[in-house]
Amino acid sequence: MQELTHYINGAHVKGTSGRFADVMNPATGEVQAKVPLANAAELAQAVDIAQAAQPAWGAVNPQRRARVMMAFVGLLNRDMDKLAEALSREHGKTLPDAKGDVQRGLEVVEYCIGAPQLLKGEFTDSAGPGIDMYSMKQPLGVTAGITPFNFPAMIPMWMFAPAIACGNAFILKPSERDPSVPLMLAELLEEAGLPKGIIQVVNGDKESVDAILDHDVIQSIGFVGSTPIAEYIYGRGCSNGKRVQCFGGAKNHMIIMPDADMDQAADALIGAGYGAAGERCMAISVAVPVGDETADRLIEKLVPRIEKLKVGPYTSGNDVDYGPVVTAAAKANILKLIESGVAQGADLVVDGRDFKLQGYEDGFFVGPHLFDRVTKDMDIYKQEIFGPVLSCVRAQSYDEALSLAMDHEYGNGTAIFTRDGDAARDFANRINIGMVGINVPIPVPLAYHTFGGWKKSVFGDLNQHGPDAFKFYTRTKTVTSRWPSGIKEGGEFSIPVME
Ligand code: NAD
Repeated sequence: MQELTHYINGAHVKGTSGRFADVMNPATGEVQAKVPLANAAELAQAVDIAQAAQPAWGAVNPQRRARVMMAFVGLLNRDMDKLAEALSREHGKTLPDAKGDVQRGLEVVEYCIGAPQLLKGEFTDSAGPGIDMYSMKQPLGVTAGITPFNFPAMIPMWMFAPAIACGNAFILKPSERDPSVPLMLAELLEEAGLPKGIIQVVNGDKESVDAILDHDVIQSIGFVGSTPIAEYIYGRGCSNGKRVQCFGGAKNHMIIMPDADMDQAADALIGAGYGAAGERCMAISVAVPVGDETADRLIEKLVPRIEKLKVGPYTSGNDVDYGPVVTAAAKANILKLIESGVAQGADLVVDGRDFKLQGYEDGFFVGPHLFDRVTKDMDIYKQEIFGPVLSCVRAQSYDEALSLAMDHEYGNGTAIFTRDGDAARDFANRINIGMVGINVPIPVPLAYHTFGGWKKSVFGDLNQHGPDAFKFYTRTKTVTSRWPSGIKEGGEFSIPVME
């Protein structure tokens, strides 16, 4: 049995708390490794090292820091296959999807190569007689991030790349379900030239998270995960005086207008609903066709596509559409919600409950499901299922469809499929959701834009990556300097104004 480690001060360090979690192979249901769960003392040791290392790194000029990011991109590309294989082995997603996970993180690293430009301050020459005014964006010091299981490469990189490019030290507490890739990323960063102690990985669960939340030296916390934990981390982190941004769960609606290209809409729903077994915060889990005729046409197109989906282990190569879900508990929760949908009167049009995969009977595979005639009061509509389950809610008008998405407590992503530019424009303007797709089912913004939802999908204000990340990971200092030919004598007692 492999025993994983922490990554502290440039070295793999064994856990000392005596507590471990099982890291599963979701395809076989077997335990493949043990990951140590840090206690407060182990976290504090990493913080001490980060605190000692950070001032020198913060003083390195931004171009040199950017060069580390540049070298890191090269190493990520060099090791892409290795990273994807390790990711699929612990997470279960297919290899092409695992490469996408690395790639979407890598693109944020590429963006961070622009740190010298992004960190430039403002300058006003001659704000007054002999007076110049300028701003500096300075690092916060020691920062930390807590990440979910579903993107074990991308989300850590979304956090640590800008944090480090800004001159901070970063402590990553990855998901205990798939910790190997985060450990590999830390090693690669140091191979790229990052000094020891600037990136550290402390594995753990609630105990280490609470230690992060309560540690005085940690200045900021980034969190991505489920909404109840996001809300908890935001509350406790903020009350401890930290800068906190938390991204939570989702229930993303896709509205299909009667004039939409129905083949295109159905193809989009298949990828967005069932890709990565539905374990994406930007998955479409609710389809909202407008009008019964649209709904009937859509269902007719969806069913044969769903029945053709290939579910299997990543080792089957490119022939698989999606893999297992992450744990037995996740599978049990999905199946429980499916039973509730049936009991509450939804029409289970595609029933994957009997799905079995020969040779992988103990794996956490869930067959694809499609519900029709789902209503707002059902648990499968209200809750995030995070599995290969698509719910169809029939709306009688565009306004009803819009209200459905607007009234849902989550507001991460949404999409509309239509040929009508006016409807699309109205939708994009009025919807109270952070990321909107127009004939695009998974509108994940690119690295140089920002990523974030609204409503219960977020706690805090600034988004992830793009220019917002450079705000989140820096403090602004504004300097007013006067080099007059002669400083006026005597105090001034009224507020200075520029006359
Ligand atoms: P999770 O909330 O269970 O875990 C996320 C992190 O929090 C992990 O590192 C975990 O160790 C830690 N954690 C878990 N329980 C904790 C507790 N009681 N106290 C303190 N820390 C705790 O989420 P998950 O299952 O790993 O990820 C799936 C969730 O993440 C889904 O809800 C999904 O929508 C969401 N997600 C959101 C986004 C986004 O950007 N909005 C992106 C990806 C995933």
